[in-house]
Amino acid sequence: MEQITVQASQSSYNVSVGAGIRHNLAAFLPKTYQSVFVVTDTTIAPHYLDEYVASLQPSANVTVKIIEPGEAAKSKDMYFELLDSMFEAGLDRKALVLALGGGVIGDLAGFVASTYMRGIDFVQLPTTILAHDSSVGGKVAINHETGKNLIGSFYPPTAVVYDVETISTLPEKEVRSGYAELIKEAYIGDTDFLHDLLERKQLDKENQAQLIQDLSLGIQVKTKIVEADEKENDLRKFLNLGHTLGHAIEAEAGYGTFTHGEAVAIGMLFALELSEEKFGTDLRLGEFRRWLERNEYPLQLPEFSAERLIKRMQMDKKSENKEVHMVLLREIGKPVTEKVDHDTLSRAVTSFLERMS
Ligand code: ADP
Ligand code: ZN
Repeated sequence: MEQITVQASQSSYNVSVGAGIRHNLAAFLPKTYQSVFVVTDTTIAPHYLDEYVASLQPSANVTVKIIEPGEAAKSKDMYFELLDSMFEAGLDRKALVLALGGGVIGDLAGFVASTYMRGIDFVQLPTTILAHDSSVGGKVAINHETGKNLIGSFYPPTAVVYDVETISTLPEKEVRSGYAELIKEAYIGDTDFLHDLLERKQLDKENQAQLIQDLSLGIQVKTKIVEADEKENDLRKFLNLGHTLGHAIEAEAGYGTFTHGEAVAIGMLFALELSEEKFGTDLRLGEFRRWLERNEYPLQLPEFSAERLIKRMQMDKKSENKEVHMVLLREIGKPVTEKVDHDTLSRAVTSFLERMS
């Protein structure tokens, strides 16, 4: 088992990553809770819900809410539905919210916990690889019609208990999605980890020792960055490598066509190409492309209009005054934020789209 301590401004919490630790959940909680509210989805519940509940204090009063999987659950309606269920169950300020699932469950249940009676404890039990990213950094949110994650807050969990055995049932597409963020973290802040990933033949969701190691290394990179910059000033932007074009592709293709990580992987390819061109540096691009191919990332894009993608990139949260700011790498492990002018961007996106069609 690996344990990483994340220092948030008000409190610190442990992220424990191990195999089979769901059977010993109570040992990872800071205290015993009389009332527990579990949020999970209909895909995860049949596999793991009973095991997690069985590992809680036998006398605990447990209420379970099982929702439909998918991003649509991060809605105002679902938010109030969960709050209603909590009041109905008579939960007080000392109750605990358990988020059993991926990023959707973590964001939703975390936001609910952050506002129920001005905030109660919440523990994340991630079941996806991608959730390593959302479970560190304390961001919780639901969506508004205007855009994703627009209603939310910074609310660190009380603990994160990450049992990698649950990854064995995760669909391959979701495994790829999660590993895209891991290789992104390696590129930003861990050259040895990057080397190890690029050398590897195939992603393997059954290799638990390797999963523990990979997730811990990714979490450490992210932790260092969010600790240095909890409220998203400069450093945190570096985590956006691959996301400027990635978000645009996700939205332009229609959410769900590409998983988040698949779109980010394509965005990274673009950002790394631009970086090599701009800084004349070697970012092991050929190896990265072969790694993506070997692991069957979708690398063929539908017919996108370059201008429409650029419009979306200009609207990105991280851009300012319609100027596109992108994270590039001066070298491996040395991210920088650069303003990219419209002409350069237009040329680069057009050429990229041609090669990816
Ligand atoms: P993330 O944002 O972390 O990718 P989501 O909450 O969007 O996570 O989950 C992705 C999908 O994978 C959902 O359909 C969810 O039900 C499913 N899922 C999550 N964890 C598992 C698991 N361990 N085994 C099987 N399916 C899972
Ligand atoms: Zn991301």
